[in-house]
Amino acid sequence: MQHIKNYINGALVEPVSKTYLDNFDPSTGKVYSYIPDSDEKDVELAYVAAKNAFPAWSVTPKDKRSEYLLKIASLIEKNLDRLSLAESIDNGKPLKLAKTVDIPRAAANFHFYGTGILHYAAHSHSMENNAINYTLRQPVGVAGCISPWNLPLYLFSRKIAPALAAGCTVVAKPSEITPMTAYLLSELCIEAGLPAGVLNIVHGLGGKVGNAIVSHKDIPLISFTGGTITGKHIAAIAAPMFKKLSLELGGKNPNLIFADCDYEKMLSTTLLSSFANQGQICLCGSRIFVERKLYERFKTDFIARTKALVVGDPRDEKTKVGAIVSKSHFEKILNYIELAKTEGGKVLCGGNAVKMGGDFSNGYYIEPTIIESLPHDCRTNQEEIFGPVVTIMPFDTEEEVLDMANSTIYGLASVVWTQDLTRAHRIANNIHAGIVWINCWLLRDLRTPFGGVKASGVGREGGFEALDFFTEPKNVCIKL
Ligand code: NDP
Repeated sequence: MQHIKNYINGALVEPVSKTYLDNFDPSTGKVYSYIPDSDEKDVELAYVAAKNAFPAWSVTPKDKRSEYLLKIASLIEKNLDRLSLAESIDNGKPLKLAKTVDIPRAAANFHFYGTGILHYAAHSHSMENNAINYTLRQPVGVAGCISPWNLPLYLFSRKIAPALAAGCTVVAKPSEITPMTAYLLSELCIEAGLPAGVLNIVHGLGGKVGNAIVSHKDIPLISFTGGTITGKHIAAIAAPMFKKLSLELGGKNPNLIFADCDYEKMLSTTLLSSFANQGQICLCGSRIFVERKLYERFKTDFIARTKALVVGDPRDEKTKVGAIVSKSHFEKILNYIELAKTEGGKVLCGGNAVKMGGDFSNGYYIEPTIIESLPHDCRTNQEEIFGPVVTIMPFDTEEEVLDMANSTIYGLASVVWTQDLTRAHRIANNIHAGIVWINCWLLRDLRTPFGGVKASGVGREGGFEALDFFTEPKNVCIKL
């Protein structure tokens, strides 16, 4: 069975401890490879490599850095099939989704920052005849990047690509639950000729490897995507060390559906925004508010379309809902469905684990689930479930729905369905979310800032904001 290796100082190496963890294929529940069980010793080796590579990399001309990033982008594209299959096996997501969304978007991240850095400019400010101020943007140093399991290579690349483009060197940790595409990326970086030590990938547990990165006294910047509780823990360590911190955290995203919406477009997109990747996208809408006069029609059609979704083998073209990423997450989602029932929720469809046959009999499958009759402020409607479970609720007025939508601790994304332009803008203005989609979902120009408010995070990724994050502005004032 394959043993994944760490990527340190340009080479694929075993963990210092020579110990490994099991890597599961969630579609079968079986171990299919082994992950380095790295610790602070491996992080230190990665840090030293990154520190030594920083002086040369930080002054490598940006067109040369750009060339490396574009080479990596084209290698990802060339290896689309291999990477997509690896991601589907690691994560349980439908192969088609990996092939059409995750992996192409990972390549797009390298492409975007490979070209973006060429157009990244700093400001100058003239004080008339008195002085000129200009801002130098200099790479911060060794960046620590930690990412989750739901869109493994895409979210990993969203941190690494701007960090490298900006001239930082990197110590990165992918989720221990889905390490394979990050491992394949290290092979591609070697093929692209990326100088040794510029990117270092250390595999292993969050509590060991992640913690060692976050608490490393000489890593001045942490870019983290994951759960809000982990984010809180990281902030508590990093803040007293005055580290630069970007936290992309959990969500409980509302969908606001008004009776005047383009119904068919709304229905098919809502199906996707509810259950794509088994609901394990931080941007999925998990609370669906529907204007009362449309509620019964929506409910009937939404249930019918949800029941028609094929749950099963992620590698089968017909599958729309694959496996849940891990046994513990599978159990957590089922516990939330039980909680919803105790809170008075009525399960309209789904609600159960799916027992598959043959090779898949030990896989982790859950029916796409719709629940109604819950108050907006119960735990089911306030806590992140991060699975194929949505609640539906009727509303009467715009004011009422905004109150309910804004009632959670989270504020990542939101979706509004209406043909009334003024209302759409009014809601966009008043909703507590970093992202507002109007009559669409998951569309994003990579130049736009990405991130949430409240407990959904601090800072912004995406666009030139990410280059701002990985560089430090230094203001120089010249007296004339
Ligand atoms: P976790 O917070 O459990 O883990 C995220 C990463 O942090 C993993 O690599 C994990 O390692 C690591 N980690 C865990 N504990 C520590 C620690 N003490 N110190 C440092 N690193 C640690 O999140 P999940 O992987 O479960 O991802 C799902 C969550 O991510 C959801 O809440 C989702 O909403 C959020 N998310 C947010 C996005 C956004 O852009 N806002 C995008 C995508 C997901 P290990 O895997 O070994 O535990």
